[in-house]
Amino acid sequence: MRVPSEMPRPLYVTQPLLPELPDFLPFLASIWQTKVLTNGGPYHNRLERELGGFLDVPSAMLFNNGTTALLVALKMLNLPAESEVITTPLTFAATAHAITWNSLRPVFADVDPETLTIDPAAVEKAITNKTSAILAVHVYGNICDVISLQDIASKYGLHLIYDAAHAFGATLNNRSVAGFGDASVFSFHATKLFHTFEGGLIATSRKRDKDPIYFLRNFGIKNEDEVVSVGINGKVNELQAAIGLLNLPLIEGERALRSNLRRRYCELLTSVPGVRVPQPQPGVLNSEQYFHLVIDPTSFGRTRDDVYDSLKQRGIFSRKYFHPICTDFEPYRRFEIHSARHDPYVNTVKSQVLCLPFHSGVEEEDVNDICAEFYG
Ligand SMILES: *Cc1c(COP(=O)(O)O)cnc(C)c1O
Repeated sequence: MRVPSEMPRPLYVTQPLLPELPDFLPFLASIWQTKVLTNGGPYHNRLERELGGFLDVPSAMLFNNGTTALLVALKMLNLPAESEVITTPLTFAATAHAITWNSLRPVFADVDPETLTIDPAAVEKAITNKTSAILAVHVYGNICDVISLQDIASKYGLHLIYDAAHAFGATLNNRSVAGFGDASVFSFHATKLFHTFEGGLIATSRKRDKDPIYFLRNFGIKNEDEVVSVGINGKVNELQAAIGLLNLPLIEGERALRSNLRRRYCELLTSVPGVRVPQPQPGVLNSEQYFHLVIDPTSFGRTRDDVYDSLKQRGIFSRKYFHPICTDFEPYRRFEIHSARHDPYVNTVKSQVLCLPFHSGVEEEDVNDICAEFYG
């Protein structure tokens, strides 16, 4: 057994999955030979087909990053300018920014205390006659209450988009999460379980979305003579696509390793007073993107920030995802958080969430060492 001084440090929350370098070389050789570098090359098209199959959607369109994919997913809906899009404040800044960049207004709704995903009751309270869409986030890999959100969207005639950056490969009752709502947006950034160094994807369950998304991704160009929409450059190059083709077969192995880590963390932490481990969701196959704890300082006796600092001193870099939350950022500071409770739960939990190192570089001894932080 390794002693703590021999532990590999630093230890980060994520570590990018990488194929063996020699496996990448034939792809490079072919790219050099064909001189097809971007604009929908053969690797790009093959990866889109494979991802469409993997995510079980008829329309899977690659993007240069998740943020551009979010921008385009919202753009595709042609929402009225200045209309309101209800979202969660407990997310990465890109979620709210994508709304604002589209000249729409983000309206923040509280999270559910169990899953930390957007609370449908709070969403319903946030609806006005200016609301045009809901942008929900499967945060940490927890799946939103997709049934209630779809019910609300249908009842009020709203569009529904999922930021599924944390939910690649997750299923609910054997159904891919990529098929819910009007669209699901993935990030293939290096920190995500499946990545293309940088990258993203829009998945939709409608084949007819393909053309509008395709045009928006490429400046709105339909053909040599026609530009049909106010598009952007969201294209993915062949190097990124090759990495994706090599990484895709590796993720089931990575997911299995992370699933074991999750089990071990839970075993060691589940009976620590004031520390809440994530609960499995009924019918959900977890994406294994993050492992998050909720630390209640009153019953645990120490704050989340204290645990974070103490781990950091030992070379263990946990992350306070997503603190500060969006409404703590300058552009959204005066925005209200709509809630079904007296005080929004997100304002409490933002000081209590902590993501622990969660990837195949974390050994069993590391888990023991990290969890020792939580024993008196
Ligand atoms: C990573 C992430 C994004 C943005 O993805 P990029 O590919 O980095 O642009 C959006 N939303 C969430 C929740 C994320 O975690």
